[in-house]
Amino acid sequence: MADCIFCQIIDGEIPSRTVYEDEDVLAFLDVNPLARGHTLVIPKAHEAAAADLPGDVRDALFTAVGRLAPAVEAAVGADASTIGMNNGPASGQEVPHGHVHVVPRFEGDGVGPLHALDWPAPELDDDEFDDVQAAISDRA
Ligand code: 5GP
Ligand code: ZN
Repeated sequence: MADCIFCQIIDGEIPSRTVYEDEDVLAFLDVNPLARGHTLVIPKAHEAAAADLPGDVRDALFTAVGRLAPAVEAAVGADASTIGMNNGPASGQEVPHGHVHVVPRFEGDGVGPLHALDWPAPELDDDEFDDVQAAISDRA
Protein backbone atom coordinates (compact mmCIF):
# COMPACT_ATOMS: atom_id res chain seq x y z
CA MET A 1 0.00 0.00 0.00
CA ALA A 2 1.69 3.16 -1.25
CA ASP A 3 0.43 5.47 1.51
CA CYS A 4 1.08 3.06 4.41
CA ILE A 5 3.95 4.09 6.70
CA PHE A 6 4.80 0.51 7.58
CA CYS A 7 4.75 -0.64 3.94
CA GLN A 8 7.15 2.22 3.23
CA ILE A 9 9.40 0.97 6.05
CA ILE A 10 9.28 -2.57 4.59
CA ASP A 11 10.20 -1.15 1.17
CA GLY A 12 13.07 0.87 2.66
CA GLU A 13 11.50 4.20 1.68
CA ILE A 14 11.35 5.25 5.34
CA PRO A 15 14.29 4.30 7.58
CA SER A 16 13.76 2.13 10.63
CA ARG A 17 15.92 0.60 13.33
CA THR A 18 15.41 -2.98 12.22
CA VAL A 19 16.12 -5.72 14.77
CA TYR A 20 14.83 -8.77 12.89
CA GLU A 21 13.70 -9.71 9.40
CA ASP A 22 12.64 -12.88 7.62
CA GLU A 23 10.59 -13.67 4.53
CA ASP A 24 7.25 -12.73 6.12
CA VAL A 25 8.08 -10.50 9.07
CA LEU A 26 9.95 -7.31 9.96
CA ALA A 27 10.66 -6.05 13.49
CA PHE A 28 11.97 -2.60 14.34
CA LEU A 29 12.14 -0.17 17.23
CA ASP A 30 9.06 1.95 17.84
CA VAL A 31 9.95 5.57 17.06
CA ASN A 32 8.00 6.70 20.12
CA PRO A 33 8.83 3.99 22.67
CA LEU A 34 6.79 3.31 25.80
CA ALA A 35 9.97 1.78 27.27
CA ARG A 36 13.56 1.35 26.08
CA GLY A 37 13.52 -1.50 23.57
CA HIS A 38 9.82 -1.14 22.62
CA THR A 39 9.68 -3.15 19.40
CA LEU A 40 7.06 -3.47 16.69
CA VAL A 41 6.69 -6.81 14.91
CA ILE A 42 4.85 -6.55 11.60
CA PRO A 43 3.87 -8.85 8.77
CA LYS A 44 5.22 -7.81 5.38
CA ALA A 45 1.74 -8.39 3.97
CA HIS A 46 -0.44 -5.29 4.31
CA GLU A 47 -3.54 -6.16 6.32
CA ALA A 48 -4.97 -4.01 9.08
CA ALA A 49 -6.38 -6.81 11.22
CA ALA A 50 -4.80 -10.03 12.47
CA ALA A 51 -7.82 -11.98 11.19
CA ASP A 52 -7.20 -10.85 7.61
CA LEU A 53 -3.66 -12.23 7.40
CA PRO A 54 -3.12 -15.54 5.60
CA GLY A 55 -2.67 -18.28 8.19
CA ASP A 56 0.97 -18.95 7.33
CA VAL A 57 1.83 -15.25 7.69
CA ARG A 58 -0.02 -15.08 11.01
CA ASP A 59 1.92 -18.12 12.16
CA ALA A 60 5.18 -16.46 11.10
CA LEU A 61 4.20 -13.21 12.86
CA PHE A 62 3.49 -14.84 16.19
CA THR A 63 6.47 -17.17 15.89
CA ALA A 64 8.62 -14.06 15.48
CA VAL A 65 6.95 -12.43 18.48
CA GLY A 66 7.78 -15.51 20.56
CA ARG A 67 11.38 -15.27 19.44
CA LEU A 68 11.69 -11.51 19.88
CA ALA A 69 10.12 -11.09 23.32
CA PRO A 70 13.00 -12.82 25.17
CA ALA A 71 15.54 -11.11 22.91
CA VAL A 72 14.09 -7.67 23.67
CA GLU A 73 13.88 -8.41 27.40
CA ALA A 74 17.49 -9.63 27.56
CA ALA A 75 18.77 -6.70 25.50
CA VAL A 76 17.44 -4.09 27.92
CA GLY A 77 17.59 -6.11 31.15
CA ALA A 78 13.82 -6.27 31.47
CA ASP A 79 12.03 -8.60 33.86
CA ALA A 80 9.10 -9.26 31.52
CA SER A 81 7.30 -7.80 28.56
CA THR A 82 3.80 -6.80 27.60
CA ILE A 83 2.80 -8.13 24.18
CA GLY A 84 -0.19 -6.49 22.58
CA MET A 85 -1.98 -5.55 19.42
CA ASN A 86 -4.41 -2.71 18.93
CA ASN A 87 -6.69 -4.61 16.56
CA GLY A 88 -9.00 -2.14 14.81
CA PRO A 89 -9.55 1.65 15.04
CA ALA A 90 -11.92 1.41 18.03
CA SER A 91 -9.11 -0.25 20.02
CA GLY A 92 -6.80 2.69 19.35
CA GLN A 93 -4.96 1.28 16.32
CA GLU A 94 -3.40 4.27 14.59
CA VAL A 95 -1.32 2.60 11.87
CA PRO A 96 -3.67 0.47 9.73
CA HIS A 97 -1.01 -2.15 9.02
CA GLY A 98 -1.31 -4.88 11.65
CA HIS A 99 1.51 -4.92 14.19
CA VAL A 100 2.36 -6.45 17.53
CA HIS A 101 3.91 -4.31 20.27
CA VAL A 102 6.58 -5.90 22.46
CA VAL A 103 7.10 -3.54 25.38
CA PRO A 104 9.78 -4.32 27.99
CA ARG A 105 8.53 -4.35 31.56
CA PHE A 106 10.43 -3.92 34.82
CA GLU A 107 9.66 -4.90 38.40
CA GLY A 108 8.11 -1.84 40.02
CA ASP A 109 7.63 0.09 36.78
CA GLY A 110 4.17 0.97 38.07
CA VAL A 111 2.42 0.46 34.75
CA GLY A 112 0.28 -2.48 35.84
CA PRO A 113 -1.27 -5.25 33.78
CA LEU A 114 -3.56 -4.90 30.76
CA HIS A 115 -6.37 -5.22 33.29
CA ALA A 116 -5.31 -1.86 34.71
CA LEU A 117 -6.55 -0.11 31.57
CA ASP A 118 -9.70 1.86 32.24
CA TRP A 119 -12.16 -0.77 31.00
CA PRO A 120 -15.89 -0.34 31.49
CA ALA A 121 -15.87 -3.94 32.74
CA PRO A 122 -19.35 -5.54 32.64
CA GLU A 123 -20.85 -7.67 35.41
CA LEU A 124 -22.14 -10.80 33.65
CA ASP A 125 -24.56 -13.30 35.17
CA ASP A 126 -24.36 -17.01 34.26
CA ASP A 127 -26.86 -16.66 31.39
CA GLU A 128 -24.84 -13.84 29.86
CA PHE A 129 -21.63 -15.89 30.19
CA ASP A 130 -23.48 -18.81 28.50
CA ASP A 131 -24.64 -16.55 25.65
CA VAL A 132 -21.24 -15.05 24.94
CA GLN A 133 -19.52 -18.44 25.24
CA ALA A 134 -21.91 -19.86 22.64
CA ALA A 135 -21.67 -16.82 20.37
CA ILE A 136 -17.87 -17.03 20.25
CA SER A 137 -17.57 -20.81 20.00
CA ASP A 138 -20.12 -20.87 17.13
CA ARG A 139 -17.83 -18.56 15.16
CA ALA A 140 -14.41 -19.90 16.19
P1 5GP B 1 -0.83 1.65 17.14
O1 5GP B 1 -1.46 2.72 17.98
O2 5GP B 1 -1.29 1.73 15.70
O3 5GP B 1 -0.98 0.29 17.73
O4 5GP B 1 0.72 1.93 17.20
C1 5GP B 1 1.45 2.51 16.18
C2 5GP B 1 2.87 2.64 16.67
O5 5GP B 1 3.70 2.92 15.56
C3 5GP B 1 3.08 3.75 17.69
O6 5GP B 1 3.63 3.19 18.89
C4 5GP B 1 4.05 4.71 16.99
O7 5GP B 1 5.00 5.25 17.88
C5 5GP B 1 4.70 3.82 15.95
N1 5GP B 1 5.10 4.51 14.73
C6 5GP B 1 4.34 5.35 13.98
N2 5GP B 1 5.02 5.79 12.91
C7 5GP B 1 6.26 5.21 12.99
C8 5GP B 1 7.41 5.29 12.15
O8 5GP B 1 7.45 5.97 11.14
N3 5GP B 1 8.49 4.56 12.54
C9 5GP B 1 8.48 3.79 13.66
N4 5GP B 1 9.60 3.10 13.97
N5 5GP B 1 7.41 3.69 14.48
C10 5GP B 1 6.30 4.40 14.14
ZN1 ZN C 1 1.06 -1.43 5.02
